[in-house]
Amino acid sequence: MPVLVFDLDDTLYPELSYVHSGFRAVAAFLSPLLGVPAETLAAGIIAEEAAQGRGQVFDNVLRQHGHWSKALVAACLRAYRQHLPTFSLYSDAERCLTRFADWPLYLVTDGHKEVQARKVAALGLAGRVRHAYLTNRYGRHRAKPDPHVFQLICRREKVEPNQVIYVGDNVRKDFVGIKPLGFRTVRILRGNYAHYEADAAHEADRRIHSLDELTAEFVADLLR
Ligand SMILES: [Mg+2]
Repeated sequence: MPVLVFDLDDTLYPELSYVHSGFRAVAAFLSPLLGVPAETLAAGIIAEEAAQGRGQVFDNVLRQHGHWSKALVAACLRAYRQHLPTFSLYSDAERCLTRFADWPLYLVTDGHKEVQARKVAALGLAGRVRHAYLTNRYGRHRAKPDPHVFQLICRREKVEPNQVIYVGDNVRKDFVGIKPLGFRTVRILRGNYAHYEADAAHEADRRIHSLDELTAEFVADLLR
């Protein structure tokens, strides 16, 4: 039976919803220190991120309130990374996981391993996939495009790469490492890379706009 492997961020849920959930946790933490209501702070952090990006968001907000310190920025980052997120799957992801519930399903995701593990738990995915591979657990060099964990999936399922489909959104790294080995690839056009034009080596075998397009017939055609 074919094996379906999914990326996590922006493939199964909107990453920005996790980011905003984290910002609300940071706002709740900072509110008593700054004497500003948490809702006001959260709105300010979200606006700052939208304008300037994520890199310096806590520095900028603390400076705006006259409370910048290296220690407080670090504390904000901890509050963000350790928060228990409240967010949910894309509705088409929910339907897709239900549709293929009897198939061998996996996740492969890069990023901070504890953060990613909390997302998997909060989204209720642990019970819906055979295993969530957090590449970070195998070392930074195993992040995509490295094919290592995909090869672990083949070994575990006793299948060749041409029976394994990876669905992801990040055309820069999701497909380029595994395509030469024969893995089949599907790009979902959403998130930051939705409009990114890639060369042939980076582009997936198929592009879809919704996981509703991923059906048993679609898979059979892709594996042909
Ligand atoms: Mg992604």
